[in-house]
Order: sequence, then structure tokens, then C-alpha cells
Amino acid sequence: LQDEVVRTEKMQIVSDIAASVAHEIRNPLTTVRGFIQLFGTADLSLQKKADYMKLCLEELDRAEQIIADYLSLAKPDPDPDRIETIELNEEILYLSNVLLTYANYNNIRIEVELPRDGRLCAKGDRYKLRQALINIGKNAIEAMPGGGTLELRAEKRLGVSAVTIRDTGVGMTEEQIRRLGSPYYSTKEKGTGLGTMVSFSIIKKMNGRIEVTSNPGRGTEFSLMFPNS
Ligand code: ADP
Ligand code: MG
Repeated sequence: LQDEVVRTEKMQIVSDIAASVAHEIRNPLTTVRGFIQLFGTADLSLQKKADYMKLCLEELDRAEQIIADYLSLAKPDPDPDRIETIELNEEILYLSNVLLTYANYNNIRIEVELPRDGRLCAKGDRYKLRQALINIGKNAIEAMPGGGTLELRAEKRLGVSAVTIRDTGVGMTEEQIRRLGSPYYSTKEKGTGLGTMVSFSIIKKMNGRIEVTSNPGRGTEFSLMFPNS
């Protein structure tokens, strides 16, 4: 009986991981698909083609990375070799590029606001942070079925570097905010309820903090705050 319990638990963990991987692999596949479609239909300059090609390759690399990342999420400590200083400005630009086709498709304008002076940094694994940001950004887009504005911002606040992802979407009630991050909590027909859980665990590992404020019917703001290094 004991064995069976252990085996069932293990199978649960394996199937959780499999579900997460499938969910997260869809992000880069969607991006690459969008660009390939663009290649076929739009009249692109050589420069644009080269840029998009580079993005596609980065995305495919990321897909590969995600598989490894999910398996390492289970590890108690982050791999010290992969902790680096991450430029948050760069990551926000990366995020806006990755989300662009998805946003366009949904009639959403992306606004980026970065500080002119000084660098904003966080410490951690760049690819995991990207994954966390994409999960949150994707949710923001999905919260605006009738279009809207997605605002991506980086700024220095008291003692922290902050990244803000704000949408003008459906918003959440207090109860919904409270349930955010619990596995499989989803209000979407095809949702997995894993994206937020993974994002929260990544930010936590970076010693970061997430604040969510929301107004039902008006929109939601996710603030990620990282200690100044
Ligand atoms: P999924 O996107 O697969 O539903 P997530 O873990 O990414 O799973 O999100 C869980 C739930 O949190 C969503 O189904 C949605 O109800 C809510 N949510 C997350 N972000 C937002 C947002 N920006 N606006 C409104 N609701 C959100
Ligand atoms: Mg999601």
C-alpha cells in the first residue's frame, strides 16, 4: 500500500510537469508560427526578416530551455551557475517583441515605458524570468478579449527595481486574486492554471515579490519587485 501511494504521488508529479511543459511550450510555438505566417504574407525588408529570424531561433531555443527549466523547478536551490545579473529594460523589450503578434491579433496596443537614466537589474536566471514575464503578459492579453492596452514598465522604487505589467481587461475580484498562483486555478475554457503558479515560484526564487491590484471591469496590474543589487 505504501509503495502504491508513493507511486501515485510520483505519477502525479510527472503528469503535473508534463502538463506544465505542454502549456509553456505553446508560447514559443505560437510566436514562431506567427512569424512564419508573416514571412509568407507580408512584404518584409531584409533587415526585418533577419530580425524575425533571430527571434524565431531565440524562441525555439527557449522552448528547449523550458523543458530543462521545468525539470529544474523541482530542485530546492537554483543552479548557481545560471544566476546572472539581468537587465530589466532589456527583458521588457524582449517581452514586448515576443507578445507583439499575440497582441496585434487581439487588437491590443503595447506601450513600453523605461527609465531614461540608470540601469535596472535583478539577479537570477534570465530564461526563467522570461518565462514568468511571458506567462503574466499572456494572461494580461487574454484578459482583454475586446482589445485594449498592455503597459509594460520598469522603474526604480524605494529599495527595489520594479517591473509592472498592466492591462485594461476584465479584472479580478478579491477572491480571484487570492486564488492566483494555486495550481490548476483557471477561469478559461482551455486554461491549465499553471502559468501563474510557475511565475510566482520563479519570482520567489529570485527573492522578488509580486503585488497584484485589480478592478473588476477596469483592469489589472502586476508589479514585480526585485531587491536592488
Ligand atoms: P490560465 O491562463 O491557463 O488560466 P494562469 O495560472 O496563467 O492559468 O492564470 C490563472 C487565472 O488567473 C486565469 O484563468 C485568470 O482567471 C486569472 N488571471 C491571471 N492574470 C489575469 C489578468 N491579468 N486579468 C484577469 N485575470 C487574470
Ligand atoms: Mg495563463
